[in-house]
Formats: sequence, structure tokens, C-alpha cells
Amino acid sequence: APKTKGKAKLRTAADFKLRLTSPDKVIFPEDGLTKGDLADYYAAVADLLLIDLAKRPMTLIRCPAGRAKKCFFQKHDTGSMGEHVLRIPVTEGAGTTEEDYLYVEEAVGALECVQMNTIEFHGWGSRIDPLEKPDRLVFDLDPDEGLGFDKVKAAAVRLREMLTDLGLETFPLLSGGKGIHVVAPLDQEADWAAVKSFAERFSRAIAEAEPETFTANIRKNQRKGRIFLDWLRNQRGATAVMPYSARARDGAPVAAPVSWEELDAVEAANLYTIRDAAVLLERAGGKGLKGWGQGRQTLPDA
Ligand code: ATP
Ligand code: MN
Ligand code: MN
Repeated sequence: APKTKGKAKLRTAADFKLRLTSPDKVIFPEDGLTKGDLADYYAAVADLLLIDLAKRPMTLIRCPAGRAKKCFFQKHDTGSMGEHVLRIPVTEGAGTTEEDYLYVEEAVGALECVQMNTIEFHGWGSRIDPLEKPDRLVFDLDPDEGLGFDKVKAAAVRLREMLTDLGLETFPLLSGGKGIHVVAPLDQEADWAAVKSFAERFSRAIAEAEPETFTANIRKNQRKGRIFLDWLRNQRGATAVMPYSARARDGAPVAAPVSWEELDAVEAANLYTIRDAAVLLERAGGKGLKGWGQGRQTLPDA
């Protein structure tokens, strides 16, 4: 069967120079999946993960006692990571303080993060160089509680149309949670202020034009059957989940790139899980899903 064929070729954590401790520790209790299973997933999809994750300041979600216990976000270096987890000093706030942020360049670095109980990889909208020029716009569609996924898909398609009208090609990412992220690659010409301003103005304009579907207001009590267009992902220091990152959620889902054509038939944002490494690799053909997220586009000035 094709699945077995795919499996035979998968890399596992054992293929990396890495000391993985407690591989049998169950970290997805509902699914009986272990730290070793998670490491094997990441080992298999590492090349796909690195397409977006490489050289991007990261925030990690680490869950030392598994996803159902206390997890924490890690933004800054605390000195505990492996040697392939690299550091870059980043100014924060008014530019008066500087902190070391983490990034990786190679698969082994991502696996070292997993060794330190990372489940999720989140990244900035820019790479470490040029840090001040984002290479992607992300519209994070956050549906109101209980809103059907068909509504989220329709909203994503609507967003696509409107961004196409402004000359931006976009790509949908199943978040692995409830929503979809609509991603537009940028040419790294515009700075953070311009990118954030565009995202905010665009989102507010849509919410005004189509208030039955969208809101640009972060307050949950403003959502009421609508989708919050989370434009705040596009400010300096904000992060979004990386394609192929696992999620610390029930079912061990992953954030998965899909094509617009495929999205139509997808029934939930958590369709793919860490058990699906072979399927994800096969779909992507080793190189990344047919141009997903590729391209260098100029930020529209509209
Ligand atoms: P869903 O589809 O379920 O909304 P999501 O990944 O989009 O999944 P959000 O809560 O919308 O989850 O958050 C969007 C992004 O904002 C996250 O992927 C994460 O990178 C970032 N984020 C959210 N909460 C925090 C937090 N407390 N600290 C740092 N970053 C956060
Ligand atoms: Mn979201
Ligand atoms: Mn959000």
C-alpha cells in the first residue's frame, strides 16, 4: 500500500545526532502519543517545517509534563537549549532593552527544542535578516465559539478574493485548532509599521463592509457568530504558528498548509495530526506543497 511505502522512507529522531530523554513519556494523554512519537513526527517533516521556521525568531510552547498539564510560552533564551538552537539579540519596547531570541537553521535544532519538551513552534513575521522587514502577512481567522468550519472556509475564500484584488496571492493554513490563517508572502521591502498598518486598515475595512461575517475587534463579546480578523499577528514581536508545527491540543493536530482547491473539501482545521507525517510528506513531494507560501510580493499601498 502507498502508506507503507511512504513510511519506509521516513526519517525518525534516531537519524539525528540527538539525545532524546524520556521518549516513552506520554505527552498527548488522550491519544497515547509520546515524546518519542512527537520527535519522530518532527524528524520526518523537518525539511518542510524548516521552509518557514528557519532563521525566524521563535516562540516555543513547552509542556514538560505533557499537553494536558502546565505549558508555557518561551520567547527568550534561558540557556537550556541544545547547541543548534541559536540566539539573536533583539531590541524590545522603546528600543531600550535587548533580549536574546531563539531561532534555528537546521532540523537538528528543531529536534533539540523537542528534547526540551517543545510541542509548538511559533514564529515572527520576519526572518532574522532583515529582522525589520516582514516576509509574510498573516490573517488569523478566529471564529466565534460554535461557528461552523464551513463559515470559516467561506470567510477565508472571501479574504483571498479581496487580497487578490489588491494584487496579493495568498495561501491557506489549517491552524490545527479552530481557524485558518491566510498567508501572503512579502518581498521584505516594507517595514513593520507599514505591514501592521496595512493589516489593520484592511481588516477594519472588511469588518465595516461585511459586518455580518467579520469583526476586527479583539473582544470576544464582540464576535457573536462572526469571525475575528486577527490582524495583530502582523506587528513586530507577534507570532503565528508555523506550518507543520504540532499543536498542544487534544488529538495531536498539526498546522497544515493546503491549497485553495483542497480547502473546499476539508472539514476541520485539525484534519492532520502528528500521525500523518507520511501523508504530509507525500502531499508536499518533499519540497513544500506546490509553491505554498512562496513568492515575493510588494505590500499594496491601498
Ligand atoms: P486557532 O485556529 O484555534 O485560533 P491559533 O494558532 O490561530 O489557533 P490563536 O489563539 O488565534 O491560535 O493565536 C494566534 C497566534 O498568536 C498563536 O499561533 C500564537 O503564535 C500567538 N499567541 C496566542 N496567544 C499567545 C500568548 N499568550 N503568548 C504569545 N503568543 C500568543
Ligand atoms: Mn487563530
Ligand atoms: Mn488569534
